[in-house]
Formats: sequence, structure tokens, C-alpha cells
Amino acid sequence: MSQKVNLEKKVLSENDLLAASIRQELEAKGIASLNMVSSPGSGKTSLLEKTLAELNNELRIGLIAGDVQTENDANRLIRAGGKIVRPLVTGGACHLDARMISRVLPEMNLDNLDLLIVENVGNLVCPSSFDLGEDMKVVLISTTEGDDKPLKYPAMFRRSSIMVINKIDLLGTSEFTVKRVKENALQINANLKVFEVSCRTGIGLDAWCDWVKQLVAEKQGVSA
Ligand code: MG
Ligand code: ZN
Repeated sequence: MSQKVNLEKKVLSENDLLAASIRQELEAKGIASLNMVSSPGSGKTSLLEKTLAELNNELRIGLIAGDVQTENDANRLIRAGGKIVRPLVTGGACHLDARMISRVLPEMNLDNLDLLIVENVGNLVCPSSFDLGEDMKVVLISTTEGDDKPLKYPAMFRRSSIMVINKIDLLGTSEFTVKRVKENALQINANLKVFEVSCRTGIGLDAWCDWVKQLVAEKQGVSA
């Protein structure tokens, strides 16, 4: 057992070193970066499609679409107007790690990017342990899930800076309440910033996109 623990520690510390060098590279080029995490089906790809539709003309956005199999999500993002989209098929791994990111970054011409968004594999467990060099993790939860997920998967909510509650248009069709999910999430991480959106109807997307723009502006202000 201790061997397994040591191996995990070694893998994670190697990951942290690589993530630090990715972070340094992005920082040097003034690129803001987000790591999108959630269960499968919470709407990560949908949110990115809507974000592209709104911001594609103003910002140069690079996207890395992680999945266990298929390039379906990468293709959706290309159809949504994504100009710099790289699929990252893990072939079985249930999370992305910094090594995978460092393999695709050289194909992305970082000199031409304002913002890098990584869509992680749909999984609320181990993606929380793997730093990818991002500025922050954004965790999505949808109203069709249990509002106790922040309590069940605390590490993910603790390590995220933002929580996006998606499918707000479906409130009332289940026991899920915004009040409860916020209480549960803030109990785990009092600093979480929360957005309530519906990618289907468009509710709340303006606030989200404004925040993304502000993040990029701050980043460029700092690096300028
Ligand atoms: Mg997806
Ligand atoms: Zn995993």
C-alpha cells in the first residue's frame, strides 16, 4: 500500500513541476487560462460553444478538448467557430495531466492567443488532483444533478475558483435548488464565485462572458 501511495506522490509531483513550467510560459505570454471540470453531461462543451459565439471576434481563444474517446467535442467547438482547437483523446485515462497539455501546446502558436481554455474529461474525482498550469479551475454543475455534489466531491469544489450552475431553465423539474447547492459549495469553499446560466436559453451568459473578458484584460494588464 505504501508503495502505491509513494507512486501516486511521485506522479503528482512530476505533474506539478510540468504544470509550473506551463504556467510560467502562459504567464510570460500574458495568456489567461481556464481548466473546465465537471461530471459528464453538465454542459462544459455547451458553455464553450456559447462563449465562442459571444467572444470569438474580440478574443483569440485556444481550446483543448479532452475526452476518453472521440473528437466529438473538439468538432463541436470547431463548428461553433473555434479557430484554434486541439482534441486531446486520453485513450482511457479519466483525467488530463500536465504532460498531455505540454504535448499539444507547441501546436497552438501561443503568440497568437489571449485565452486558453481546457475542457477536462468529465469526471469530478481525479481531475482535481492534476494541476494543468491553468490560472483557475471552473467547475460546472447542472440542475439535473444532485445539489449535494459539492459535499460528495469536496476536493473539486475546494480547488476550483468558479462554480457555474448550468441548466437553470430546468429548475423546478427536480429537487435541485440553487440555494442548497450554493450553501453546500460555499461550505466547502467560501471563496467560490458563482454564475447561474442556461446554455440552452442564454440566461446568465452575458455575466459569464463579461467575467471572462475581464480575466483576459487583467492578465494582459499585468503582463504589459
Ligand atoms: Mg464535453
Ligand atoms: Zn483520472
